[in-house]
Amino acid sequence: MDATLPILYLVASITFITGLKLLGSPKSARVGNLIAAGGMTVAIFGTMFLAKGHDGQPLHNLEWITGALVVGTAIGWVMAMRVQMTAMPQMVSFFNGMGGACAALISVMEYQAVGEAGMSFGGGLATVAGLVIGSVSFSGSIIAFLKLEGRLGDIRFGGQQFVNNALLLGVLALGGAIVGSYLGGLNMVLLLTAAALLFGILFVLPIGGADMPVVISLLNSFTGVAAACGGFLYDNMVMLIGGILVGSAGTILTIVMTRAMNRSLANVLFTNFGGDAAGGGGGGAGGSVRELSAADAAVMMAYARQVVIVPGYGLAVAQAQHVCKQLEKELQEKGVTVKYAIHPVAGRMPGHMNVLLAEADVEYDKLVEMEEINPEMPNTDVSIVVGANDVVNPAAKTDTSSPIYGMPIIDVENSKQVIILKRSMKSGYAGIENELFYRPNCAMLFGDAKDSLTKLVNEVKNL
Ligand code: NDP
Repeated sequence: MDATLPILYLVASITFITGLKLLGSPKSARVGNLIAAGGMTVAIFGTMFLAKGHDGQPLHNLEWITGALVVGTAIGWVMAMRVQMTAMPQMVSFFNGMGGACAALISVMEYQAVGEAGMSFGGGLATVAGLVIGSVSFSGSIIAFLKLEGRLGDIRFGGQQFVNNALLLGVLALGGAIVGSYLGGLNMVLLLTAAALLFGILFVLPIGGADMPVVISLLNSFTGVAAACGGFLYDNMVMLIGGILVGSAGTILTIVMTRAMNRSLANVLFTNFGGDAAGGGGGGAGGSVRELSAADAAVMMAYARQVVIVPGYGLAVAQAQHVCKQLEKELQEKGVTVKYAIHPVAGRMPGHMNVLLAEADVEYDKLVEMEEINPEMPNTDVSIVVGANDVVNPAAKTDTSSPIYGMPIIDVENSKQVIILKRSMKSGYAGIENELFYRPNCAMLFGDAKDSLTKLVNEVKNL
């Protein structure tokens, strides 16, 4: 037996694991990504030229495969080059959906190629699992993509949870019947695909702002598991390992995100996805807000002992990460201790703030996780909230009717002074008011975050 292909697969698998490890730190993430992409290229070309099909012959249709590779690479390249940093979460969701669609298509093709009669129980199980999970991941990711794009809101209707649960049971029953050969034929497989696609849509439709990070990570893990099923079907080790890595990394991320939202996974999955359909008003926000000039804000910060910067989605919109770093530098030169408070769901994708700040060369040890920074808040002179809203909203602690109720927040209100940089009084992703803005120790510095930070940098310099 020729060992070249298994060796290439082994090399590729090692690059995936190394890449994943290097993705653990913003400093090494770029290299990690390139290493894993290199491994994937080796695996693809190895498969194209060395693998054998079901008939024991080398792969045919190479011209079709090459054509698809060229077209896919070109589309991916153009999308990745053109994408705005703020649209990255949507693109990740879209690509994740494409992975799910591929896994589902593999299952349909395999079912046709092998035929019911030739399929073992394990083969049938992997086919159906890949089909169902891949389809749910595809349609769910497209709905998540539309929501992140702001083209689709949360859609809820009476009895929705019942309909979803009934549909899920139907999908499982039909899938089970196909695996057990009680039902069969391409029509049944297509019916199962349609039902799984519908479930993916209905399951993501009602999800409210605050729960989106959980569903995004969950869909990510689904795609990995679906790809692993494909690896099992083709007896392809590198696909199996790649799928398992994505599936397990996505599962770990889902657990981290559910913890960040203070929910159990079971609660998220079967009962409360989307939170309270009525939504909360934000804890009875009202009263008047205090506005502050950049000059006054600069004085407060320059004479502080500790300043904590709380970045949020607005930092990404304004692309203000580099100016933010300059402000940190200016304050440090004045002897102020500066730290960044990182909320796990700040921004629009897991790790969004870490990625942005790493791009501006903010030292990694300055990024402090929420649990560690919160006890420091009472000793913090100034918290400066840069384009964050939901992740500092006290309604999460006090208003049981709020869709973010129960989510731990960065307790900026416990610091001596809070300065909020945003353009208006508009709400954040969860669409709720923020009572923090009306607190006596809070002041607003209205404007685009980059402009406001630039003014602050200049004012601090001149002090
Ligand atoms: P939010 O979406 O709550 O708030 C962002 C704020 O930034 C807005 O209120 C907006 O106010 C302000 N803003 C926008 N553009 C600018 C700008 N150019 N300059 C200054 N301010 C600006 O963000 P958070 O990071 O606080 O919270 C994240 C939310 O997104 C959470 O609800 C989370 O659940 C959700 N989410 C998170 C995901 C993740 O994986 N991290 C995925 C999907 C959703 P204004 O318009 O007045 O300027």
